[in-house]
Amino acid sequence: MANHLLSKSSFIKGIQCDKQLYLYKYHYNWMDKVSESQQAIFNRGTNVGVLAQQLFANGTIATDDPRKSDEAVAKTKALIEKGCQAIYEAAFLYDNILVISDIIVKEGRKWNIYEVKSSTSISETYLLDASIQYYVLLNCGIEINDISIIYINNQYIRNGNLNTQSLFNIESIIDKVILLQDFVARETSRLKEVLKGKVIPQIPIGKQCSDPYPCSFMGYCWRDVPEYSVFDIANLKTEMKFELYNQGYIKLEDIPINYGLNDKQWMQVNCHITNETIIDKVAIKEFLSDITYPLYFMDFESFMPAIPMFNESRPYQQIPFQYSLHYMRNNGSTLEHFEFLADATGDPRIPFITKLLNDTINDGIILVYNKSFEISRLKEIAKDFPEFSIEIEKRISRIVDLMIPFQKRYYYTPAMKGSYSIKYVLPALVSGLSYDNLEIKEGGTASSVFESLYYETDLFSCTEIKNDLLEYCKMDTLAMVEIFKILHNI
Ligand code: SF4
Repeated sequence: MANHLLSKSSFIKGIQCDKQLYLYKYHYNWMDKVSESQQAIFNRGTNVGVLAQQLFANGTIATDDPRKSDEAVAKTKALIEKGCQAIYEAAFLYDNILVISDIIVKEGRKWNIYEVKSSTSISETYLLDASIQYYVLLNCGIEINDISIIYINNQYIRNGNLNTQSLFNIESIIDKVILLQDFVARETSRLKEVLKGKVIPQIPIGKQCSDPYPCSFMGYCWRDVPEYSVFDIANLKTEMKFELYNQGYIKLEDIPINYGLNDKQWMQVNCHITNETIIDKVAIKEFLSDITYPLYFMDFESFMPAIPMFNESRPYQQIPFQYSLHYMRNNGSTLEHFEFLADATGDPRIPFITKLLNDTINDGIILVYNKSFEISRLKEIAKDFPEFSIEIEKRISRIVDLMIPFQKRYYYTPAMKGSYSIKYVLPALVSGLSYDNLEIKEGGTASSVFESLYYETDLFSCTEIKNDLLEYCKMDTLAMVEIFKILHNI
């Protein structure tokens, strides 16, 4: 390992919080476990980085293992001396700071530096990331012509083979980077001093814990914050949460009665204190009055490939791959179940919509939970495949949102903890039915495991993942059926 105190990523962590930098460097094993959906985001970054190398063909990789940074630094130096015109993952070390540049390309005597990002715009953090590279390369004696961010063009629509020239935007940021050089010099020397300290910096939790990124040491720093606290008050501004917390009001029951919460927030606090359930029977009756049998209970799952995998799709477009549909002919009738899960070999959208339109061909209200999601997916399919648009519009006109009674607090129990997400509403209302025993417990995991099916070669794993997905999506509509029955009985 090359002798370095700071790297690009640890610099960014240090700018967010000194303590985060220190923990990352010296207490790495205290870091929170990486979830499957977070891991999918990291993998996405790597894949996009490799794809962007195609923009500058015939380059040489200096390192494919950042842990062997001393080798990478030496190899980069040798490649430059040899006259190499394009280097991927080029490593440089200056004054205890190691940076690895995604792509550097020679133009005349000077170099163009490219930092690849898998997002669709340039953030302040990306400017800092590029600025520390510029600082180190310049001090290593590299003559720099330009420095740019390569990021994803969200207007690109795939048509045939992937067109990397159109998929990526390349934007020079050299002017902004030059303006940040004094800041980088100041902060790198300050952060190196932080790392030379013998004790963990005493920094209380604050807004920085999730801005600009969720910190990976929240499990450690937030360990004394109770599971249900002022941080769980729905729609309360972050500043106000920390204002309460810093004044010692941590649990909901601690909040002074004259504190400026709105009516819904006081309802959440008071229901928690008194353990009272609120039921507005008139409003629920009004909501149910338009819902007549037969009924469908419908739920979709989708995934968002950063790099469009299918024709007529854009980067990060939500591609529906699965649905579950319960059908209730009339009050008390046996439930029928329909479902679809794409086989992960091609574009799921046409098989998805063809079966869905067929399964919902009978008249009847279609209940969903959070209708904007399902309606948006249907409208996107109608736009991309206009041959289905007339039938899709008919289905959209039948959709009713079962989330409304909970969103509008016609029904609220303390166990919902201020949330109207089905993941909170279900266990609060229905005992014995929960996501806890499922392998897949939330939509983010469903998306990432489905995407992994495209690359999975082990048939046993494929079958297991598909079964888990089917169980998860079925639970969503079964939950809606039970929630509907409870509202109906009221
Ligand atoms: S959780 Fe907050 S205080 Fe703790 S290291 Fe992270 S950002 Fe800093």
